[in-house]
Amino acid sequence: MGGIKLKVGQPDGQEDLRRIDALRTHLPDDVAMMVDANQQWDRTYALQFGRIVDELGLAFIEEPLDALDFEGHAMLARELATPIATGEMLTSLAEAVQLMRAGGCDIAQFDAPRIGGISPFLKAMTVAEELRIDIAPHWMMELQVHLAAAYPQEPWVEHFFSLEPVFNERLEIANGRVAVPSRPGLGLSLSDAARDWTVSRSAFGEISRL
Ligand SMILES: [Mg+2]
Repeated sequence: MGGIKLKVGQPDGQEDLRRIDALRTHLPDDVAMMVDANQQWDRTYALQFGRIVDELGLAFIEEPLDALDFEGHAMLARELATPIATGEMLTSLAEAVQLMRAGGCDIAQFDAPRIGGISPFLKAMTVAEELRIDIAPHWMMELQVHLAAAYPQEPWVEHFFSLEPVFNERLEIANGRVAVPSRPGLGLSLSDAARDWTVSRSAFGEISRL
């Protein structure tokens, strides 16, 4: 089965804990659960929170700290039993390697579109494999499902609805798993809406109106 990720990092940490408890109670045991703090915590709070939830068996805690606080993430990875996942905000292979070499993630979440494309992503995957780090690519899964499928350890992949207007094809998802498309190449073709969305007409934030 797949998993469900819950946003945390609200001003009221007790509300985060109540929501985690409610979801865990609701979900079947074979559905994994993970939380994403989107860089909202400092080191002290993240460690306190992590210790409270450490016995719950979460699949990972995502982005507990500022995305560039590699040392802080490394401290949490050392101190907590729950795996630490981060890396989605990094924008180069060099940053990705720096994070991994610092021990800053148990699960790397680099995104090919952000770190420079498929080639840098594959290089980052090679370093991750060498360091025995799992991966959980994060965004534009229509592209990254192919890359993630090439990783020796079964990765987590996420499903976002927001990019569906860009492509004619849809990911096939069943029982919490994404099927790797067998169509040629990436198995994607741009939708008419995306073709119409030319560089000359685009503006910041326009994708939300597709
Ligand atoms: Mg995230």
